[in-house]
Amino acid sequence: MYKGVRAIELNQRQEQIVQIVKSNGPITGEKIADRLNLTRATLRPDLAILTMAGYLDARPRVGYFYTGKSSTQLLSDSIKKMTIKESMAIPVVVEEDASVYEAICKMFLEDVGTLFVINKEGYLTGVCSRKDLLRAAIGGQSLKDTPVSINMSRMPNITVCLEEDLLIYAAKLLIDKQIDALPVVKKLKNNKMKVKGRITKTTITRAFVSLIEDE
Ligand code: ADP
Repeated sequence: MYKGVRAIELNQRQEQIVQIVKSNGPITGEKIADRLNLTRATLRPDLAILTMAGYLDARPRVGYFYTGKSSTQLLSDSIKKMTIKESMAIPVVVEEDASVYEAICKMFLEDVGTLFVINKEGYLTGVCSRKDLLRAAIGGQSLKDTPVSINMSRMPNITVCLEEDLLIYAAKLLIDKQIDALPVVKKLKNNKMKVKGRITKTTITRAFVSLIEDE
């Protein structure tokens, strides 16, 4: 999912190549191969990995040189490139006049922990979490007669993010606000918002794991 630099574990030969380039760069692939008593063709996959991972840079007709980036720097470069657009899930919404009962059913059926609440025009009006529904359930109200809007958190006190924001920004918001989910919204000229996606602790964890699995 996330292309670009990666923090990877280098094998022994790749470590040797990095050391050679560090001390002798810029150096051609041919010359690196000579020093290791290998053919250029044997070395090609290692050079490709080291360049893709950001350890080395290649300039045509000049050769390879060392970028000077540590694996921690490369990993943090990768994390800073992750955007909300690449990681968000489909939003699960409910209309504000739906009953608490219907909201509970939707939460089970769609297997989510947070519902985004919209009005008839489709604009975001609130967020309804598991605990909001539990509160309604122990409140003694009739679940089928109480609208979900009675128990939700409502605009303008909703924390949102945009598709173009960085994923790390969304992660910080979840921690700072002590919430599980953020609606990804498009802000319209009339100050209203349409819901485009969903960022949750799960989507962030999945994106984090994909950093390693995509190596
Ligand atoms: P739960 O209550 O199920 O543990 P949360 O921690 O996400 O889930 O929710 C805690 C409270 O914060 C709830 O009252 C919920 O309505 C509210 N909340 C959740 N997400 C948001 C958000 N993005 N913006 C504002 N309030 C939110």
